[in-house]
Amino acid sequence: MAEPFVHEQGASRVVFGTGRLASAAAEVERLGGLRVMLIADRHSARHAETVALALGDRLCGRIEETATHVPAALADAATEQAIQIRADLLVCVGGGSATGLAKIVALRTGLRILAVPTTYAGSEMTPIWGVTGDGRKRTGRDPVVQPVTVVYDPALTLDLPARLSAQSGMNALAHLVEALYAPQVSPLVATAAVEGVTVLADALPKVVADPLDLAARESALRGAWLAGWVLGLAPMGLHHKICHILGGAHGLPHAATHAAVLPYVAAYNGAYLHRLDGVLREAATGLWDLRESIGASGGLADLGLDGNALGEVAELVTAERPANPRAVDADGVRRILLAAFEGARP
Ligand code: NAD
Repeated sequence: MAEPFVHEQGASRVVFGTGRLASAAAEVERLGGLRVMLIADRHSARHAETVALALGDRLCGRIEETATHVPAALADAATEQAIQIRADLLVCVGGGSATGLAKIVALRTGLRILAVPTTYAGSEMTPIWGVTGDGRKRTGRDPVVQPVTVVYDPALTLDLPARLSAQSGMNALAHLVEALYAPQVSPLVATAAVEGVTVLADALPKVVADPLDLAARESALRGAWLAGWVLGLAPMGLHHKICHILGGAHGLPHAATHAAVLPYVAAYNGAYLHRLDGVLREAATGLWDLRESIGASGGLADLGLDGNALGEVAELVTAERPANPRAVDADGVRRILLAAFEGARP
């Protein structure tokens, strides 16, 4: 009997291809944007400048400071500026932190977003927002924050250093892996997830061997697009809950934390990852081997987590009852965390 599933999706326009940054201004025009606020991270300043020049007098404000997990103070300042300049469209250029900041402004103002991503994080394809204050990260889903247009230009990722590319690629793989065992996953999402893993497992080693290999960058960004797409459609499970708590409560770096944890959650949920059999010989060890081969290695200990915190993190994760195909208890999570702390082959 066929598995029951639910498939629900909002509309977003995806414009993909090398050199596509040049069409960002035309895409703004298509959306009727006349008063644009441009949000970009420090490393994407050059690309943001290209967009700014093309926008001309439609550019009304700029934000050049972003930070991981969107600190509330930055979100407040950006929202105030958007209101003050009477912005009618947000354009963000950068990694998940720039997209995340634009999303909070959108959540509070109802403004639409055109996103130009420069990492493999995938936030540009999702209705998920997050903001951090008082040592806690709050997240939610709201269709208003999902970018209406996404311009993917692989040339923008040529600057992304090899190690960051590898870690960000593991972040994308985490979305794809967890989509495969999400409850009521639709066949379309499952097919896209397998394709995404296939593409990234092939492209990431080439990207790391030569960060300027444009063909590899094109493939990797295509995989990241698929990962973002499934992230927006399928509820995430245990792995994302663990990383969310490690990032929000312990300040661990986002992509590196995903790289540190993923093989061990894949080992825990291995029985539900049979769809990857033809792609990785075995999901958990395959992900670990890939991670090591691309230099995204490093356990939670290397990321600076205090080993004494593992028990408390396990309790917090369990209390939030993550959606997961295999039952989750504090002891199981503690074992996953200990393995991720040490970083050995699962
Ligand atoms: P990031 O945006 O913080 O970027 C990491 C670093 O790379 C930054 O210093 C940035 O300036 C730099 N950078 C970005 N693009 C670059 C490029 N092309 N060349 C050189 N340097 C570049 O990191 P991230 O991993 O992209 O995003 C992490 C954030 O996104 C977290 O806050 C996470 O919670 C959020 N996120 C949200 C979703 C969602 O659906 N809401 C999905 C994934 C990630």
